[in-house]
Amino acid sequence: MSSGGKPSATNPPVQTGLSLEKLVVYNSPILFSIGVGMTQKPTGAEVRQTFIDFFVEHQHTFVPSASLVPGGDATLLFTNAGMVQFKDVFLGTDKRPYTRAVDSQKVLRVAGKHNDLDEVGRDDSHHTFFEMLGNWSFGDYYKQEAITWAWQLLTDLWGLSKDRLYATCFKDDKGNIPTDDEAAEIWKQQPGMAADHILFFGRKENFWEMAETGPCGPCSEIHMDRGEEFDNLRGKPHRCGVNGECTRYLELWNNVFIQYNRIDKDTLEPLPAKHVDTGMGFERIVSVLQGVDSNYKIDLFRGALDAVRTLTGDSPEKMLANFTPYRVIADHARAAAFLIADGVVPGNVGRNYVCRMIIRRAARFGTKLGLHEPFLSNVAEAIIQAYGDFYPELIKSREVILDNLRREEVRFARTVESGTAYLQGMLDELKKSDQKALDGQKAFDLYATYGLPFEIARDIAREQDLDVDEAGFRTAMDAHRLASGGGKAMGRMGGEDAEFYAGIRKELQNAGKLGQEGVEYNPYEWLQVEVPLLALVADGQLLSEAGAGDRVEVLLPKTGFYVESGGQVSDTGTIRAKDGAWEIEITEMRKPSAGIIVHTGELLFGHPKSGDMAIAAVDSARRHDIRRNHTATHLLHAALHQVVGEKAVQAGSLVAPDHFRFDFNHPEALTAEQVERVEKLVNEAVAADYTVTSLSKSRQQAVAEGAMALFGEKYGEVVRTITIGDPQHRYSYELCGGTHLQRTSDVGAFLIVSESSAAAGVRRIEAVTGRGAYELVARRFKMLKQTAGVLKSALEEVPQKAEQVQDELAAARKQVAGLKIELAMKAFSDQLSAAEEVKGAHLLAMELPGLEKETLGRLADTFREKYPDNGICVIATISGEQVIVMAAVTQDLIKKGIKAGDLVGHVSRQLGAGGGGAPHLAFGGGKDAAKIPEALASVRAWVEAKIN
Ligand SMILES: [Zn+2]
Ligand SMILES: [Zn+2]
Repeated sequence: MSSGGKPSATNPPVQTGLSLEKLVVYNSPILFSIGVGMTQKPTGAEVRQTFIDFFVEHQHTFVPSASLVPGGDATLLFTNAGMVQFKDVFLGTDKRPYTRAVDSQKVLRVAGKHNDLDEVGRDDSHHTFFEMLGNWSFGDYYKQEAITWAWQLLTDLWGLSKDRLYATCFKDDKGNIPTDDEAAEIWKQQPGMAADHILFFGRKENFWEMAETGPCGPCSEIHMDRGEEFDNLRGKPHRCGVNGECTRYLELWNNVFIQYNRIDKDTLEPLPAKHVDTGMGFERIVSVLQGVDSNYKIDLFRGALDAVRTLTGDSPEKMLANFTPYRVIADHARAAAFLIADGVVPGNVGRNYVCRMIIRRAARFGTKLGLHEPFLSNVAEAIIQAYGDFYPELIKSREVILDNLRREEVRFARTVESGTAYLQGMLDELKKSDQKALDGQKAFDLYATYGLPFEIARDIAREQDLDVDEAGFRTAMDAHRLASGGGKAMGRMGGEDAEFYAGIRKELQNAGKLGQEGVEYNPYEWLQVEVPLLALVADGQLLSEAGAGDRVEVLLPKTGFYVESGGQVSDTGTIRAKDGAWEIEITEMRKPSAGIIVHTGELLFGHPKSGDMAIAAVDSARRHDIRRNHTATHLLHAALHQVVGEKAVQAGSLVAPDHFRFDFNHPEALTAEQVERVEKLVNEAVAADYTVTSLSKSRQQAVAEGAMALFGEKYGEVVRTITIGDPQHRYSYELCGGTHLQRTSDVGAFLIVSESSAAAGVRRIEAVTGRGAYELVARRFKMLKQTAGVLKSALEEVPQKAEQVQDELAAARKQVAGLKIELAMKAFSDQLSAAEEVKGAHLLAMELPGLEKETLGRLADTFREKYPDNGICVIATISGEQVIVMAAVTQDLIKKGIKAGDLVGHVSRQLGAGGGGAPHLAFGGGKDAAKIPEALASVRAWVEAKIN
């Protein structure tokens, strides 16, 4: 999409002469000039709704926005286009119950190929987060309908002036692909469309491809001439027109007609089913319909900008004159709110890093406006207000959003000053050395030490005409991530694997061995199936036969083996020949491509070949343990909501046979009482013997009924819901594809093993149920018995007995310490008279065993009593691993230049450490106990040299 918009504060500011208030007045001059014909200025929410309603009236199914975290797509950090959730449909590997869809998709572009971060704030049209309106045809309608409806919506419903609209069609600049005359012809038929407003462009503008190979096709874009007054290059020579160099012409809507499949660089083959994929930047069309000259002046941003203005005290005019920080803050606060609502909290790697970075960047732009206290939660409140009706996840996660923003700002504030000061030092060095770019490793150190994200360091560098080496930063970050074990953030791409299995699927389907939907999957009912073995694979190749010890992959037409998802681990089990001739032990499951499920394991004996009748059996005891743990996670989630509150939203889980792990959003550790209450509530729900029912329903209905949905999960249109308790009084209600018990009593017992921190703002509970709980109790009980044996106590009396032993031990220790002091004093007194004479002074340098610092102080006093004048005392002692040295000097000798601090330093240095203190009493340390006699012997010479 091209970037329109006016220059802003980063470029010389252009005074529009219009305040925000004037700009949003309904019948502004701009509105008339672009011919908006709606009788009332629409709100953003109304624009979104008219778009959806219009297509629903034309038999489209409304599909809610998918999460910003793409489900089941490891190759993408964030949903960055409307088509992400339909990608499998276009690739032909997934099907939906509808062939026409309309949506408003949440999109984030801050990483990878689509990265608009640099531009955000600098102009009026770029965002990190935005909404993409789209209508979709999956092998249903085509160009005729798509173009006609687009024209109707824009001109009839929204009343845009027809003579300001342009349509572009594809004409290959390389001359290989046929011109899209079909689209051009349809455009000509549209009422009021001028023939000279239909233009042709080449591959860069008007041909869309998903990848090097695969579905692709020509696009037809709709552009609008906003008028000369929107031209930022007015008066200068430039290419002025559709797809030109200035901001006068605005791209509104892109219709992609997917009609080819690209086989290789030179070959396109027609697709049997043709598709339509359209995208319209929501903020942009709203800005047009509201007659404002910036996406940031639409009503949906108004509350956010006002929230910032309330804090800065700026008037609307003053804000517009310095609009950049306002735009960055409004954009980033909105992106962060949506991210957190989708479960992405600030953190150090991957998606979490992005969330942290945009919050910190917004905070820094806040300081440019004089905002030094946390303020982003105020802005986010306004965002939730503006968007919550359409995106209820914002309201649901309100507390989590505000809380995370506040805490992240506080964390950043603690380090940002030292971080930027340090960065400034490095930038100054750079300038002196005439270099242009800061080393990436240094930028990473700044992030690791001061939490200054790369993007902010770069902002600061660029403000001074310098830059930061991005590739170097990424390398340093990856190296760090691998070193700290947090690597593989995005995992293996698996492209080849997917292609290989998609090929096998096609072959099996062509041979009639596999149904059109691919492998049938029902982990809920089929613990054992009897089926023919379809294919054997090893090392990425089809095998005709395998031998014992081989690690093989097995394809079956149907399976009940659960494939890891939603935190629940995969099943294990066996696949064996019906006639007993061979057996494979299955240890791993995966879904490399849609419609394909692969069992992986070791061939124990025999020679399986495709076509053999096989019995595939899940390890049912292990599965039962998993079911106990999975049902218990739902009970735990519900109990946490009761004890901690609704904002304790699940952030991840691991459901294994022997234990489970449950992560949830919460800023601080649970108290011991909270942990106890949670444990008790879950066990009460177990004892209540609630029924557990699973039901399939539409995703929309389930979410509307309040079912808890988890981020990062790919939910189809039909979802599975798990209800615990009777439907009128549900104890828990979640979307979940996992395997569950039928009654909660089957959990047996539930015990929390630990409660700890999983990440900033995320707590982790580890727990056990059933057999795991029994084993834990048995183990602990045995330990208790052993302890009672050692203490020679009855079981019930172990705590009192242990306390008693502790008390006795403390008393004994105290007594020993007292005796030690007594002994030391005695030994010391005996030695006092043995002080040697050194030039008229009394010097005592000796070692005593195992004394504390306090005792040494008391010895110094004793020494002074005996020698009020002319006395020097040095004592070394070994206390545990440490050597302590003490020196005391009487007042008269201090005047002669003998200082206890210097003397301790002299001794301690010989022992491999240092020390010092006041002239009359000083302490030092030492590491090398073996050198004590030598060091003490050297004191005499040191004193002799000083007294002169
Ligand atoms: Zn122009
Ligand atoms: Zn679940």
